[in-house]
Amino acid sequence: MGSTFLQGNLSKWSGTLNKEWKKKYVTLCENGLLTYHPRLNEYMQNVNGKEIDLLSTTVKIPGKRPPRAFSPGTSPRTIIQLVVWMSCDMLTNKMSTNRSSVHFSLPQVELWFPFFKHLLHSITRRLRLHYIFELSKFDVRWFVSFLTFLSEPDDAYEFTIVSLSEESWLFRADGPEEQQAWVSAIQAQILARLQASEGNKVKVRGYETSSVTIQTIINTPGNSVCVDCGAPNPTWASLNLGALMCIECCSGHRALGAHLSRVRSLHLDHWPPGQAGILAAMGNQLANSVWEATCSTTDKLCPNTTRQEKEHWIEQKYKDKAYLAPLPQLELPLGQQLAHATADGNVRLVMQLVAHSERDDINATDGEGRTALHVACQQGNSVLAQLLIWYGADMDKHDVHGQTALNSAQLAGNASCVHLLLQNQPKP
Ligand SMILES: [Zn+2]
Repeated sequence: MGSTFLQGNLSKWSGTLNKEWKKKYVTLCENGLLTYHPRLNEYMQNVNGKEIDLLSTTVKIPGKRPPRAFSPGTSPRTIIQLVVWMSCDMLTNKMSTNRSSVHFSLPQVELWFPFFKHLLHSITRRLRLHYIFELSKFDVRWFVSFLTFLSEPDDAYEFTIVSLSEESWLFRADGPEEQQAWVSAIQAQILARLQASEGNKVKVRGYETSSVTIQTIINTPGNSVCVDCGAPNPTWASLNLGALMCIECCSGHRALGAHLSRVRSLHLDHWPPGQAGILAAMGNQLANSVWEATCSTTDKLCPNTTRQEKEHWIEQKYKDKAYLAPLPQLELPLGQQLAHATADGNVRLVMQLVAHSERDDINATDGEGRTALHVACQQGNSVLAQLLIWYGADMDKHDVHGQTALNSAQLAGNASCVHLLLQNQPKP
C-alpha cells in the first residue's frame, strides 16, 4: 500500500438498503487508491474497508444549484431555527405578559409567508429525492431520517467519483475548503495512477495494446503508402497530422520541429492513450485532402526523389503551406468557424482550420467566453481536444462562468477529456 496522501472523515451516500449519509473514515493513498472504513479504529485494524482504484475514474462536483428565491442563508434549517425561535419567543411573551392570545401584525405575516412557501418546496423536493420509498411506511426510522434532513445544511459540499463503467461514489465534505482539498488531491492521484499505469503497460502488455491500435491505423484509407512520397508500407507516424510516412520523409518531418509534426515510430514507440486518436480519425487520404488540396500531380513528390529534395518539399508543404486547402468561409472569423467545426465533430475541417490558425484564433472565445477547447470538452471529443491542445489551445482559459476546459469536462462527466487534460497539464 502506498503512503497516505490525505485522510479524514467524510459522509458517503449509501444508495443500497438504508438510503442515508454515513460517516466514513476516508484515506487517499499515493498509489492512487482511495479507501473508506466505517470508523478510524477499523481503518487502524484494516477491517471492513472498501477501496476504489482511481485509474479510469473522474471526480465531479455537482453543478451549482439554481439561484435561490431568497437571500443566501435562507435554508430550510435556518427557517426551522427561526420558527423554533419565534415559537419560544411567543411562548415566553405569553407566559410573561399572561396575555390571552398572541398574534402577528400584517408586516410580519408578509415577511414569513414566502419563507414557509420556500420551506415547503424544499422539503417536497428533498422528500422526492431521498425519502419517496420511505413514505409508505411512516416509522421511527423515517422520522429520524427526516429530523436528520432538517438538521442538515442546505448547501452540501458534495463530490462524486465516477468510473468509466458508470459506477459512482458520492461523498460530502463539511465545508468548501475541505471539498476542494479532496477534489484536488483525488485529481492529482488520478493523474499519478494514469502515469503509473502507462509505465506498466510498456513493460507488461504494451505490445498487445499497441498491435490492435496499429492495425486500425494501417487500415485507415490512404495509409498503405507514404503521405508525402507515396512509398509503400510507411512505418513512421505524425501524431498531430494524423498521417503515416516512410523513413526518408520522416527525417523531413523531424526537421520541421514538433510544433509542426510530432513524429513517432509506428512499431517502436509507446503512445499514451488518446494520442493515436487523430491517426485513426484522419489517415493519409484525409490529411492530403487538407495539405495537398492544390497540389497538381506534376508537383507531387515521388518515392525515388532524393532525400534532400524530399526535405525541401516537405518544408514547402507543411511550413510554407504551399498546397493547403483554402479557408472554406472568409466572412466568418476563423475562431468562430473552428468552434462550429468542433461542435460538429468534423475532424477534417478542424484540421484544415487549425492549419490556417494562429494561436489567437485557436483561443478565440464566443459570447460566453468559451474556446473551441471548451466546446470539445463539453462534447466529450477527446480527439479534437488533443488536436487543439497540440495547436496551442490554452487549458487555463476561463469562460464567463469561471469554468476552464477541465471544469467543463468534469461538469459534463466526460472522463476521457478529463484524463486527457490532466495528462497535458504541465508537470510540477
Ligand atoms: Zn515518403
